[in-house]
Amino acid sequence: MYKSILVPIDVSEDELTRQVIPFVQAHAVINISKVHFLTVIPSFPYYSTLGLAYSVEMPEQRELQLKAEEKLNDIVKLFKLPELKVQVHVVSGSPKDQILRLAETIEADLIIIASHRPDISTYLLGSNAAAVVRHAKCPVLVVR
Ligand code: ADP
Repeated sequence: MYKSILVPIDVSEDELTRQVIPFVQAHAVINISKVHFLTVIPSFPYYSTLGLAYSVEMPEQRELQLKAEEKLNDIVKLFKLPELKVQVHVVSGSPKDQILRLAETIEADLIIIASHRPDISTYLLGSNAAAVVRHAKCPVLVVR
């Protein structure tokens, strides 16, 4: 039923990833689907506000991108999905905006997301998860 599943991953949160693995596996096995993994490198508007030089920022951004890609690829291996089913995306920006944007681009028919960081128990839904639940045009599975 699902053809395109989007799984946004916060690469700094192993516990969150661990939670979503069985759900992604279940849906990917039942369905003939492509699973798109996305990690968003948050942009740092703070630096540019301080007028830090572009030349200083650029290599750092490139390095961040490569590191994030490497980490995401390692994480994706934990899901044990056939390589053909998997596509990995790394972009910079606001996590919630980029998650919603990619969902449109790949015509996601399901998004699987963890609710929030386990150590921040005050909120039932983190800010990114909340925005995705509210604005996504497809079903969202919130793992908790
Ligand atoms: P919290 O504020 O507690 O971290 P979030 O709403 O940010 O809660 O995180 C919930 C989920 O949102 C994560 O499990 C992940 O799926 C997604 N998410 C958060 N940050 C990112 C990010 N930088 N890139 C991709 N997905 C993210």
